[in-house]
Amino acid sequence: MLVALGGNAIQRAQDHGTWAEAVRQMRRTTSALADVTVPGRELVITHGNGPQVGSLLREAELGAGEIPVPPLHVVGAETEGQLGYLIAQELGSALRSQRVDRSVLPIVSRVEVSPRDPAFRTPSKPVGRFYPAGEALSLRRRLGWTMREDVRRGGWRRLVASPRPLRWLEGDAVREVLEAGFGERFVFVVTGGGGIPVVRRRGRWEGVDAVIDKDRAAALVGRQLEMDTLAIITDVPGAALDYKSSHPRWLGRVGLEELTQYWKRGEFAEGSMGPKVEAGIRFLRDGGRVFLITDIPSLPEALAGRAGTRVEVSAPPTPRGTRRLGRTLPGSPGRRRLK
Ligand code: ADP
Ligand code: MG
Repeated sequence: MLVALGGNAIQRAQDHGTWAEAVRQMRRTTSALADVTVPGRELVITHGNGPQVGSLLREAELGAGEIPVPPLHVVGAETEGQLGYLIAQELGSALRSQRVDRSVLPIVSRVEVSPRDPAFRTPSKPVGRFYPAGEALSLRRRLGWTMREDVRRGGWRRLVASPRPLRWLEGDAVREVLEAGFGERFVFVVTGGGGIPVVRRRGRWEGVDAVIDKDRAAALVGRQLEMDTLAIITDVPGAALDYKSSHPRWLGRVGLEELTQYWKRGEFAEGSMGPKVEAGIRFLRDGGRVFLITDIPSLPEALAGRAGTRVEVSAPPTPRGTRRLGRTLPGSPGRRRLK
């Protein structure tokens, strides 16, 4: 199972962004995760990083006279470290207290994007804080940033490109470890914040200033690792039709075709629920079997089919290759029970 943790699993809307708050919130999240880490189920985790990127960018801004401002891709790498550490600490403890013998391994993850992705011509993803008009226009002039006014929230924000993820570079290595039979020994934390976007130039990888949507990256990880289930954890109990109306209709069990119709009809907002549903559709078309959207308290019930939005396909449109759960090669380390 691949679990994608939304911002809320790490920092709630009312939080100030302190480390103590993050620990407290992650403790709730990881206790639910540990409950569902049962024998026969591999667990891989990915997560968002929006608020953390915002804080680091602000920090860099305030320190700019003294310390060089890092590029956005480096800030993304920093959040993978920070949140990978947090998840390792808290999930590690939660697993130990449930007597589950698995080590949590965060992986600094790079994700290839195309330098010709049209997203680079039309940046769409807001990052960082709100600026007053004067400052926004000066940033646009001095640094070439794309700035957009958000009239409702009274300020301007920087927009960056959100290119499509093509390949997670560390994915083959992680897959090898799973295939060697270690799937129930390690919990990998991967492509945090959607992964660090890199492009190939003259035979080398170069980081680029962009942000990959973490839900899109999750669909990619699901395909590369041939995961069976994708569970997207967010701050609402599922996806709803007529979400903005006074009578939202929460979706429970729904078919792939039906969900695709709703998605095409624009029931799920761009930049929030839309990419989650899109990721789910893609994951199932690429050979996944179960897709869930739920909040953290309902995760165990959602896995049992009693909560959340759930799409299940019996025969995936794209049958998969070789990877089998717990496949153990003769004499491979997977046969050893590590204590
Ligand atoms: P995350 O940090 O988990 O990625 P997002 O804010 O990106 O969270 O997405 C979750 C949000 O999507 C919900 O809080 C909800 O307000 C919003 N949303 C938009 N459209 C819908 C919909 N049709 N059904 C449910 N939630 C929706
Ligand atoms: Mg989001």
